[in-house]
Amino acid sequence: MSEERALNFIEEIIEEDLAKGLNDGRVLTRFPPEPNGYLHIGHAKSICLNFGLAKKYNGKTNLRFDDTNPTKEETEYVDSIKEDVKWLGFEWEKELYASDYFEQLYNFAVKLIEKGLAYVDDSTSEEIAAQKGTPTIPGTPNQYRSRSVEENLQLFAEMRAGKYQDGDKVLRAKIDLSSPNMLLRDPLMYRIKHAHHHRTGEAWCIYPMYDFAHGQSDAIEKITHSICTLEFVPHRPLYDLFIKELEIFPSKQYEFARLNMTYTVMSKRKLMQLVADGHVESWDDPRMPTISGLRRRGYTPGSIREFCERIGVAKRDNMIDVSLLEFCIREDLNKTAWRRMAVLDPIKLIITNYPEDQTENLNGENNPEVEGGEGGRDIPFSRELWIEREDFMEEPPKKFFRLGVGLSVRLKHAYIVKCEDFKKDADGNVTEIYCTYIPESKSGSDTSGINVKGTIHWVSVPHAKTAEVRLYDRLFQVEDPSNEDGDFKEYLNPNSLQILPNAYIEPDLANAIPGKGYQFIRKGYFTLDKHSTTDKLIFNRTVGLKDGWTIKK
Ligand code: ATP
Ligand code: MG
Repeated sequence: MSEERALNFIEEIIEEDLAKGLNDGRVLTRFPPEPNGYLHIGHAKSICLNFGLAKKYNGKTNLRFDDTNPTKEETEYVDSIKEDVKWLGFEWEKELYASDYFEQLYNFAVKLIEKGLAYVDDSTSEEIAAQKGTPTIPGTPNQYRSRSVEENLQLFAEMRAGKYQDGDKVLRAKIDLSSPNMLLRDPLMYRIKHAHHHRTGEAWCIYPMYDFAHGQSDAIEKITHSICTLEFVPHRPLYDLFIKELEIFPSKQYEFARLNMTYTVMSKRKLMQLVADGHVESWDDPRMPTISGLRRRGYTPGSIREFCERIGVAKRDNMIDVSLLEFCIREDLNKTAWRRMAVLDPIKLIITNYPEDQTENLNGENNPEVEGGEGGRDIPFSRELWIEREDFMEEPPKKFFRLGVGLSVRLKHAYIVKCEDFKKDADGNVTEIYCTYIPESKSGSDTSGINVKGTIHWVSVPHAKTAEVRLYDRLFQVEDPSNEDGDFKEYLNPNSLQILPNAYIEPDLANAIPGKGYQFIRKGYFTLDKHSTTDKLIFNRTVGLKDGWTIKK
């Protein structure tokens, strides 16, 4: 946490509970992902909140996989979720699965049947929907609603035993068909699904609905503060009712606003489509808002935690500007990234008065932001250098403090050079720039009296290594693609990835450390891509150096 701030509303609740001595002073939260996709930055918000609260109040957090839907869930997702939570810097108390409670949940259902609070319904899903009415018209009971307890017990046991096909029957709670809350109009508790489950295999052919598993799973684990997003507000009375009738631990649910962020989509279902349709390379494509994508892009766990802290805990849905996330990673990398030089769009500069066979080893510090420095590296300098094409202009305007005939600049860590001439090819493209250098202007020596406004980066031609550099832009062209007409995929940004196959980097970058951030001076922050090899170096741009985002305090 960066600075003192007021308590958020969940912290206020917890402090009140602790003051009252509720739950013997215990705080136990949980993070309950459904393993049907990779986690995204919205989940990071939930993770930071749940684990953060527990940490702050000396409590614990369970990682519980909400795996009640066998057809969508896979072990691959379970593994990725665990990796992402750990990478974010959190440790869970227990690793649990809703599927571990299948027997217990079945017994809960039997108990409700015995209390006359649940019944087996043979209607089709269309019939059930029609009989439910509308928010203004009450639902109508069907003939199955008055089945006897004995009959319901027998039918439910037969459902479990596999006597019926998918869709033949469901188990419903018998609550109130005229409730203004549609979720209380006899909601489904169990459906028949002859499907393989990633953990229980073929053991079950009936599966509890999410609404009959979630609240009870919290109760079974004795979760004290069950935190979820706002769309579950209308579900709360149902969870509370089940808990009361089953006489189990009264976990309390609190809802906060989901994180939405500009220029992306935040739903596993949509992200899955982007992967399946090949709009991105994979779930961890660096343009994805997934935790794995952000990691590959060069985001640090600390920057994501800081982002989650800054956005706070809202009670009303809102849209967070992605530039706040970029601000957080920039702040982090400014302190930690080592400075290096790389030329992304090269053009050759020749220093005509520098000896042809001479090489100098100049020194550049790794990080001027760290007091005392973090060491440095040698940078070879020679007569022929690569510089950025954009740092030269044939007809420079007045305030262009870089190169053009007659103009001088400082070469970072090296000398001041003055542009004397340039060469063009038959098509009129500038191919070489000729300069002279001032031997007395070497960086670090006494250069009093010689001064220029601009400094540019460079890489020595005979020493340069080649790398592929990938620049990323927003994945979508509009702020809220989910809220536009038509399919959200129509709003993808066709230029979200730019590949520069032939950038020149200073030789030390051949030793770049995977996972570490590097500032390519004047060009942004970069990190090695996971597919980078010693034969083919690949760098991803994490974020550029500047943005118009201003800090809101
Ligand atoms: P999605 O809609 O992306 O599939 P989900 O809510 O179905 O998300 P779950 O795996 O059920 O995904 O979510 C696990 C936890 O993360 C839940 O407690 C959920 O409320 C929370 N969560 C999911 N998306 C967000 C978000 N955008 N902001 C904050 N919390 C979120
Ligand atoms: Mg969900």
